[in-house]
Amino acid sequence: MDLYEYQGKELFRRFGIPVSEGRLATTPHEARAAAVEIGGPVVVKAQVLTGGRGKAGGIKLADTPEEAEQRAGEILGLDIRGHVVRRLWIERASEIAKEYYLSITFDRGAKQPLFMFTAEGGVDIEQVAEDSPEALVRLYVDPLEGFQPYQARRLIYGAGIGDPGEQKQIASILESLYAAFVGCDAMLCEINPLLVTPDGEVKALDSKFTVDDNALYKHPDIAQMRDTAAAAPQEVLAREKDVTYVKLDGSVGILGNGAGLVMSTLDVIALAGGRPANFCDLGGGGDAEGVVDALEVITSDDQVRSIFFNIFGGITRCDEVARGILQALGRMTIEHPIVVRLDGTNAEEGRRILADASPPNLHVEPTMLDAARRAVELAR
Ligand code: GDP
Ligand code: MN
Repeated sequence: MDLYEYQGKELFRRFGIPVSEGRLATTPHEARAAAVEIGGPVVVKAQVLTGGRGKAGGIKLADTPEEAEQRAGEILGLDIRGHVVRRLWIERASEIAKEYYLSITFDRGAKQPLFMFTAEGGVDIEQVAEDSPEALVRLYVDPLEGFQPYQARRLIYGAGIGDPGEQKQIASILESLYAAFVGCDAMLCEINPLLVTPDGEVKALDSKFTVDDNALYKHPDIAQMRDTAAAAPQEVLAREKDVTYVKLDGSVGILGNGAGLVMSTLDVIALAGGRPANFCDLGGGGDAEGVVDALEVITSDDQVRSIFFNIFGGITRCDEVARGILQALGRMTIEHPIVVRLDGTNAEEGRRILADASPPNLHVEPTMLDAARRAVELAR
């Protein structure tokens, strides 16, 4: 789950990472009121779950409350890379002397959290990594040992931070960021820019914070930060129904049982010259309830033109899945053509059940490749 900048900053604040004072606003009027309360120049910041807001015109300075109101009116409703701005963060404007970059993510290959730090912040970090890789300091933390003070010094000296005041503050921020990363079960904590003011004060001017969805049950306070209005309706529906759902951008809706099978189904659709619109993983299930839920989610996506139902029966029996499909079709009207491939335990019986009932729009194919070709053809 990705958090908005202001939510990430709230977590930063809790863990002792300095951030600027700010207020949330959803109307120009509220932005003005926020600016009055904060006093002095503010920065009006679009809250969207994507980066590059500055370049897209989503971040503007305002010297007076009137100006904040005006800037808010300009930014609200703006479409930033497909994300419409509905919330603003009004923050006390900072003076900028230097901009650094700091992040922690998981390096799955190394199975360890990875710190990245560079004094060349403010710009796209991918650019720094490409143009001057030596300027980007990388450091792994052994999750059992935790973050050690010598590691803070290594990062700071590695990035060439010479000012003792900055060194001290950054050492503390590094420790706090690691605590936030672990304490919130984060997958990413990024501060870009980590700001140094002309007075030498170091603070987080931006936040990118991603929390592991699977750990949200441990963090109800973070879980409730989710903005359901901003999520696609299919995703909200899928979450409600506890269906694993991923949106893609082709035209074939995919239903499978098990992550491995679903992944290979995506490949086979590509092999057949098509593109998946989305996929649902039924997991070990295949009962009517699960099938109805998944079909509801899949068909609510306008881009879907055909559905590929790919089941390999193991513990899940294909005859049960076949009955589930028929029950589901009895309970809901689906206009899309559905291509079914059943294999594994009781596959023959399952195919026979479907053949006997032969509901309209349902095509049973013997192999995964045949079924994929059919689904792609029907999506055209
Ligand atoms: P992003 O574009 O989505 O990464 O948004 P950021 O929060 O990182 O802001 C982008 C840029 O706007 C920063 O790198 C700063 O240069 C500028 N900016 C943001 N807040 C302030 C501020 O308080 N004062 C000044 N002078 N510039 C700011
Ligand atoms: Mn930024």
